[in-house]
Amino acid sequence: MHSITRQLFISHVVLLAGAGVPALAASSSEMVSLSYIARLYSMGTSTSGKKVVMKNKWNSIEVETNSRRAWINGVMVWLHHPCRKSGGGWAIREVDFKKGIDPILRSYAYVPSRKPNMVVLDPGHGGKDSGAVGKRKVYEKKAVLSIANRVKKHLEAKKIKVRMTRATDTYLTLQQRSDSAAKAGADLFVSIHADGAADPSAHGVETFAMTAAGCDSSNHYGQGGNKSAGKGNQYDAANAILGFSIQSNLVKTSKRSDRGLRRARFAVLKNAPCPAALVECGFLTNPEEEALMIDANYREAVARGISNGIIGYITLVNRARK
Ligand SMILES: [Zn+2]
Repeated sequence: MHSITRQLFISHVVLLAGAGVPALAASSSEMVSLSYIARLYSMGTSTSGKKVVMKNKWNSIEVETNSRRAWINGVMVWLHHPCRKSGGGWAIREVDFKKGIDPILRSYAYVPSRKPNMVVLDPGHGGKDSGAVGKRKVYEKKAVLSIANRVKKHLEAKKIKVRMTRATDTYLTLQQRSDSAAKAGADLFVSIHADGAADPSAHGVETFAMTAAGCDSSNHYGQGGNKSAGKGNQYDAANAILGFSIQSNLVKTSKRSDRGLRRARFAVLKNAPCPAALVECGFLTNPEEEALMIDANYREAVARGISNGIIGYITLVNRARK
């Protein structure tokens, strides 16, 4: 057994015995074998086409070999690095285990101890910035404000405090959005968008979390800027938990195709003063999804998914605190 792997394994055994949260050794180039992960979670392993499938009674992890795609309990999660052969078996990078898979599966060991009280919702664009515009002239800035208002209503019904970065059709810079989250004392920040792509066939829903320092993003418009750490990286584990909770719920309620929990260094994620996610609720450049974006039932379904995802995260934190 590799020394790092051995250390991880021992830490987790200690954790399972109730001795507290382990401090995992950090090294972004280290590999963690899938057989180690399966042992750790007491999962049986099988293969299905190009996928390695690991499963126990509660959870499943599927990893596509030579690919960055994985699925946790059926929901797509993009890895920072592809799954590769290492030492005779398949393995993923330690960063993907520590900042993706393990926080999602063992959230209680990673969530912040502070009880989340204040959620800041950020409807994208506004004013002179329309965002994506569909063929039928559906404006992203309008659709996402309507969705954010619905999310707010659902959260407030659960006695969760909510602030909006904008409640009207006004222009805000990206910095103003992060600043307003900091000023409100946000415990969670969720930015709401609709997608646009050159290819009209592109469709589906996706949620972004901040990319880990030094790693490649997984947004469809490619990697931008430098790869150094941002403020948002201090919440890497919580970002993955929040993003996964939102994406799982969004896929369920929107019934659109699952483009996955992805990674990007969007300014609002990079500068977030708390765990943060950015949601893309469908493509305005896809005729079918543009029609859905002006349908009140679809907006409500998407809002339900986002609010259920936020409530799911808060429930995990509260449970971990007990
Ligand atoms: Zn947008």
